[in-house]
Amino acid sequence: EIKKVDDNYFGSYSSFGIHREMLGDKVRTDAYRDALLDNPSLMNGATVLDVGCGTGILSLFAAKAGASRVIAVDGSAKMSSVATQVAKNNGLLYDENMKMEQKHSSEVITVVHTKAEELNHKIVIPPNGFDVLVSEWMGYCLLYESMLSSVIYARDHFLKPGGAVLPDTATILGAGFGRGGTSLPFWENVYGFDMSSVGKEVTESSARFPVVDILASQDVVTDTAVLHSFDLATMKESEMDFTASLELRLHESGVAVPGVTWCYGIVLWFDTGFTSRFCKDKPVVLSTSPFSTPTHWSQTIFTFEEPIAMVKDGSVVGSSASIGTAECPAVTIRSRISIVRASEHRSIDISIETTGVS
Ligand code: SAH
Repeated sequence: EIKKVDDNYFGSYSSFGIHREMLGDKVRTDAYRDALLDNPSLMNGATVLDVGCGTGILSLFAAKAGASRVIAVDGSAKMSSVATQVAKNNGLLYDENMKMEQKHSSEVITVVHTKAEELNHKIVIPPNGFDVLVSEWMGYCLLYESMLSSVIYARDHFLKPGGAVLPDTATILGAGFGRGGTSLPFWENVYGFDMSSVGKEVTESSARFPVVDILASQDVVTDTAVLHSFDLATMKESEMDFTASLELRLHESGVAVPGVTWCYGIVLWFDTGFTSRFCKDKPVVLSTSPFSTPTHWSQTIFTFEEPIAMVKDGSVVGSSASIGTAECPAVTIRSRISIVRASEHRSIDISIETTGVS
């Protein structure tokens, strides 16, 4: 069964559309380029493992950055042959048959068609392990369909002790959004007709299923808070499943007029860091925040069943049941959020339990 799922999974990566989308995502690809090319003290002469190479873009950057050897791995047969061809066409492919003295110093890439977990069955791993592991493994809301477990496996088995993991941090952040973050305003006036009944249904269903979409920064009404941070150099696979709390307060400019502000739901996103731990010459952050240039990950939007009324400084104290209503607005929204891998391969279950706090 798992084999079948993997076939489908790697099959879905074989279509060029998704690679076009990733390569064309300038925020994403620039971040990796900068991390690899602007950190010569890390990359020069390094042996590099590219987990899930796709078209091979990260390996091409690594080779350009002066890596002494790059092993690019992909579970998709199609993409590993594509990456081989691309590396060859750019004069960066390692030629097994050429004598050492004839080799060009930039011809360092070898593409291996394998699941990263089985790399040691295909090639001889450098005795002390690779110096650098690079991978673009992030999914929607960081963990949806993510290949993080494969990256952790490759880190533990093929990276030298203390070797660099790029990126080396990943943080899930969140904030509350107002009415403009829902589709209610859209359905209220469609060419002059009131379709708000549809808007109501749409909002109800997005209370059960998150929506991946761009949320305009002006629709954010609370401060941003960190939900959870991963240290990719040290985390264990089991830590991929977690429960954490988000505490959200109205932000200064979110309060237009004295009175209540309605919070309609929570938006989550992630940042990954190429921090100074390994990228000493130039640390880089890849942000998918609503306050940054949009990426193909957009944001992940969770709408509450009922909006929660909020105020900046609460003086009214009601019964705990009425906090968050117009009569007794909340000062803080507290959400317990758990993200766990679903039994269904590669998907995730997210549960959010939200209360208003006075
Ligand atoms: N590194 C490329 C592609 C990223 S997409 C880029 O930045 O553009 C992720 C790629 O990883 C896909 O091509 C997919 O086939 C591959 N992949 C996912 N899990 C893998 C695993 N366990 N082993 C090998 N390849 C994997």
